Amino acid sequence: MTASLDLAQAKVTVLQHPIFELRLATLRDVATPPAQFRRAMHGAATILVVEALRDLELTESKVQTPLALAPSKKLSQAVVLVPILRAGLGLAESMTDLLPEASLGHLGLYRDEKTLQPCTYFVRLPKLDAAEVVVIDPMLATGGTAVHALDLLKEHGATRLRLITLVSCREGIDAVHAKHPDVPIITGTIDPELNEKGYIVPGLGDAGDRYFGTFDQ
Ligand code: URA
Repeated sequence: MTASLDLAQAKVTVLQHPIFELRLATLRDVATPPAQFRRAMHGAATILVVEALRDLELTESKVQTPLALAPSKKLSQAVVLVPILRAGLGLAESMTDLLPEASLGHLGLYRDEKTLQPCTYFVRLPKLDAAEVVVIDPMLATGGTAVHALDLLKEHGATRLRLITLVSCREGIDAVHAKHPDVPIITGTIDPELNEKGYIVPGLGDAGDRYFGTFDQ
């Protein structure tokens, strides 16, 4: 289902799943309206999180069925999903549906349009130490936002981190692994280019604007 690539020694897993490819095609299509874009994002997110948490540790437990006690499993450690606002919310919704045991933290970061540097405007996080912390950002472009988010989460006590992205490019992957070589990246695809405005090409445009329908008409 997946292929691990040795990208500059980076721990990168690129998702390979036919249903994901179909959802990605819808997300890339400039003609896809926001309602359909949102549905496609939710479908893609479900497949991404299943793959990204494939190695999540579980502990043996028991559950009472209507007939008898059955062996079951529970999470061995807390899981915290941290979508980067705002586009990360688009991926987080179906991830929390699938894993309601997870807590949700929020990081509000935006890229300054001129400098392309990340600025923090909102931080609300549950306890992170001893938790499996999953950072969620659809587009790994320059990597500036992801690096800033990982810095911040480590400052708040996170020690076990992974990053889920929908579309990445080489620059972003290299930037994350230069600063955070311990953080695995699970991505839907790796696109070839980053343009002068920091957009991934071919990419899918501005993920937040397309998800929330906030682009210029
Ligand atoms: N953010 C987006 O939404 N799209 C890109 O291509 C890059 C950053």
